[in-house]
Amino acid sequence: MKLEYTERQQAFRKEIRDWLAANVPQKPLESFDIKEGFEQHRAWEKKLFDGRWSAVTWPTDKGGRGCDLIEWLIFEEEYWRAGAPLRVNQNGIFLLAPTLMEYGSEAQKARFLPKMASGDETWAQGWSEPGAGSDMAAIKTKAIKDGDHYVINGQKTWSTRAVYADWCFGLFRTDPESTRHHGLTFILLPLDLKGITIWPIRQLNGLPGFAEIFFDNVRVPVDNRLGEEGAGWSVAMATAGFERGLMLRSPGRFQQTAKLLVDLYQRHRARADADPAVRDAVLKSWMDAEAYTLATYATACRLAKGGHIGAEASTNKIFWSELDLLMHETAMSILGARAELLPHAPAAGDVGHWLDGFLFAQAGPIYAGTNEIQRNIIAERMLGLPRA
Ligand SMILES: Cc1cc2nc3c(=O)[nH]c(=O)nc-3n(C[C@H](O)[C@H](O)[C@H](O)COP(=O)(O)OP(=O)(O)OC[C@H]3O[C@@H](n4cnc5c(N)ncnc54)[C@H](O)[C@@H]3O)c2cc1C
Repeated sequence: MKLEYTERQQAFRKEIRDWLAANVPQKPLESFDIKEGFEQHRAWEKKLFDGRWSAVTWPTDKGGRGCDLIEWLIFEEEYWRAGAPLRVNQNGIFLLAPTLMEYGSEAQKARFLPKMASGDETWAQGWSEPGAGSDMAAIKTKAIKDGDHYVINGQKTWSTRAVYADWCFGLFRTDPESTRHHGLTFILLPLDLKGITIWPIRQLNGLPGFAEIFFDNVRVPVDNRLGEEGAGWSVAMATAGFERGLMLRSPGRFQQTAKLLVDLYQRHRARADADPAVRDAVLKSWMDAEAYTLATYATACRLAKGGHIGAEASTNKIFWSELDLLMHETAMSILGARAELLPHAPAAGDVGHWLDGFLFAQAGPIYAGTNEIQRNIIAERMLGLPRA
């Protein structure tokens, strides 16, 4: 195995590094969980799109650069290293788009991909319902065919960024007699349709980061279906695979957090070294971020040779979510009592954004399928243990 970048990959790294150095906003954007911040992030997506950086793995005729997975990993490393804004349209670009490319008609690709890449249309995910979280096959929200439309009634919940997003994709029960994963259909719908009510839900940081979506006789054209009617479960599993597998949390994110943690430790060494467990945790954080990076490069190489990402997507998800918790908990220990201050508090000093990251890290073991569910998948599908 040759662990070196080719000249072409190095040139690619330089190109994106230079572009980011010239374009990343000097002043951090507001949170995309408030309206103003959402629009700032949308404008940033447009800027990325204009530079052809918004969806680098997409084909060139769809606004991408046709990058392979190694180039994508390089792009992500540079993106996080530059401290560039979070991606407000990641549900669309990283999760829905690969699914659309696999299951969508040419007309659907032409309709949805360009506006997704430019940030003109942002996307929310509609899987969870009050009685269907981990047990997603318990979905009850119905989409019953009426001529060339589906009529949707029911409720989705925990839909990230649905408060401000333009469109939503999700699973709906098109066969009212069906049970479990049969009779479900994957549907794309604009969130401003008549009969849709959106109620914001405040997250731990007080901001409306997700929402409940209520459907009251909402009419959606049948053309908005992705894949066959009743085959939604397998379409949704492809999206979930992209989410847990590679696309949701690239190693660059954790390498950058590990680097910031090492910087923080070095600035506070005198106090941090009083507890040897803190030093160990800093070291483990850095090593685990590197291990995750190498493992992801190995997966990318395997996929490039025609391999598939299977149940090991679950080990990835557990690994990065637990690593994220460890890194943020360690930063909180180093900062001591000041860790609870927001960055603009008078006595904040160099607390930075660790508190916000710490709060969000708590959600890592829950979203994209809880870690308990991932452990069930590993037990049953990788280790062949009996079903729980
Ligand atoms: C930050 C964040 C963003 C999210 N964004 C979205 C989104 O955009 N769209 C969307 O549809 N949903 C979203 N979700 C919802 C998320 O997918 C669900 O919270 C998750 O699937 C768990 O479902 P639940 O909350 O109903 O918990 P439950 O399924 O009720 O689980 C409760 C607890 O029981 C455990 N448990 C349940 N079943 C089993 C089992 N069989 N074996 C062992 N343990 C089990 C779970 O692990 C959990 O600890 C988001 C959640 C968070 C935290």
